[in-house]
Amino acid sequence: MNPVLWAEGLVKRYDGRVVVDGVSFAVNGGECFGILGPNGAGKTTTLRCCLGLTTADSGAIGLADFAIPAQARDARYRVGVVPQFDNLDPDFTVEENLLMWARYFDLSHRAARASMPRLLAFAGLSERGHVRIDTLSGGMKRRLTIARALVNDPDILFLDEPTTGLDPQARHLVWDGLKRLTKEGKTLVLTTHFMDEAERLCDRLCVMDSGRIIAEGPPRTLIEQHIEPVVVEVYGEGARAWADSVARPLVSRLEMTGETAFCYTDAAEPLLAAIGEHPTIRAMRRPANLEDVFIKITGREIRD
Ligand code: ADP
Repeated sequence: MNPVLWAEGLVKRYDGRVVVDGVSFAVNGGECFGILGPNGAGKTTTLRCCLGLTTADSGAIGLADFAIPAQARDARYRVGVVPQFDNLDPDFTVEENLLMWARYFDLSHRAARASMPRLLAFAGLSERGHVRIDTLSGGMKRRLTIARALVNDPDILFLDEPTTGLDPQARHLVWDGLKRLTKEGKTLVLTTHFMDEAERLCDRLCVMDSGRIIAEGPPRTLIEQHIEPVVVEVYGEGARAWADSVARPLVSRLEMTGETAFCYTDAAEPLLAAIGEHPTIRAMRRPANLEDVFIKITGREIRD
């Protein structure tokens, strides 16, 4: 496979502090690759290095067959970037925003106009090309920002937290749009804090912590490798003490967060039977997911 993006041994320091610490990965064409990690893990810095927006202290990067940072200007014609915060121009209409963006890529007005129906349809805004930005909902703005990143018909799209701040319906529409793009053969690289988003969208992902990649693989494989298949969340009055004494010997791993005990096991029946005998304890049984993996390998403490 010829990767569309690869990084080898990236190191980046700020004020002598290493924030990206020997990161290597490769993203194949048509793949959706996720970069996950707690705040401050080094995700944004890694992406900024890949785009040539900041220069790594050491390591090598290839993006769309160009060496970064040396050929970053050439690479940018093959790349679309969706920033975390929408920066659409409020003084212009939907269509004008797209046309203006096309100018950065030296597209002729005619070519840009010709791509309008396709881009507006992608954004679900075919009927709203002439409306002002401030009349759009948050979900519409997000979809328009993604459509804008497609004006140059890029091979690879970078998305920084594509659905942060959106309501559930709007998130689903964005996910549908992103899935369509991978079906069309585009390569996506995204950062996200939402594990369900990563699980749904990503063919492969890596988890970063303290500047390093600490896990990498398809979401399903990571779940199988790191976590027991069944999780029982135990809560209710006295759940913590009960879990500590009764549940602990019945499961392979137990973690407490607040008043909830997370019980990880291969077979939930003995635990569920014990819960059935206790009147105030409630339980929810579910399959293990990516969030369980994330919390296990990066820890439960909050990073600001
Ligand atoms: P993430 O995207 O995973 O939250 P970042 O890449 O933004 O992490 O940041 C990694 C670390 O580098 C953080 O500790 C952050 O404060 C620091 N950092 C990021 N950019 C700069 C900068 N321009 N100058 C100094 N420190 C920075």
